[in-house]
Amino acid sequence: MTRRTVVKVALVSLGVAALAAGVGAAAGAWGEDPQPPVAAATVSWEGVLTAPTAASTFAAPSADEPPAAEPTPVAPQPPAFDLARHPTGDPASPWVVVNKQHPVPAEYVPADLVDVAPGVQLRADVAPDLTAMIDAAAPAGARLGILSGYRSYQDQAATRAAIEARRGFDHAERYSARPGFSEHQTGLAVDLGSTTQPGCDLHTCFAQTVEGAWLAEHAWEFGFVVRYTEANTDVTGYAPEGWHLRWVGRELAAHLHTSGIGSLEEAFGVPGGPVYAGG
Ligand SMILES: [Zn+2]
Repeated sequence: MTRRTVVKVALVSLGVAALAAGVGAAAGAWGEDPQPPVAAATVSWEGVLTAPTAASTFAAPSADEPPAAEPTPVAPQPPAFDLARHPTGDPASPWVVVNKQHPVPAEYVPADLVDVAPGVQLRADVAPDLTAMIDAAAPAGARLGILSGYRSYQDQAATRAAIEARRGFDHAERYSARPGFSEHQTGLAVDLGSTTQPGCDLHTCFAQTVEGAWLAEHAWEFGFVVRYTEANTDVTGYAPEGWHLRWVGRELAAHLHTSGIGSLEEAFGVPGGPVYAGG
């Protein structure tokens, strides 16, 4: 895909999102809080990997046979993945966990935002992996567009206030995150679109598009996690959003993938859920 096409698609998608916001009718138009959480299946995952036991039986050498070969030494186990390498409570940390129990301070603005598309910014560390992911998806027919990245506290507050003024608190509570509780304020989260089925952008059906399916399978290879899934609704407090990708770096993303850990909350033991801190 040419750069011009990407730009054009991003602009068209932004226009669609803005239109949806304008009528206030699109359940999925505002990032991680488009719908009330639905009841989800019980989340379960194996937090402990048991190391394989080394075979300990081998025949004792007898007098008329050559001695048995030395038992193969057990290969040293790789060190356990160090989940304490970066803090989860610092908004500047690549492993920060933001949810309804853990807001981002209003004054926090990432120091190293870079442009990744017209009007869209992300932290500098995210950009190369995002580019690599979009480039890798294209040959598989997944034509990803960049819809939204960093959102300031002020933007979140203005969006929320506009929805509340137009539709009331209850409606806003269902379809819009409270300001300060959006992962987008970290500059580590990006909403991606389907340029083959743009009608599903920011909607549940994105997961069924070729782009959504590709991301579900491959995003981890580029350091991203699909932050809100069918399986982790209870622990994240958000309904599934196949388009909302959170960059955590390739090492952690690979660890979560190989371990089968389905959320950042579970990986780090950080409380989440559908209830806002402070009620
Ligand atoms: Zn989002």
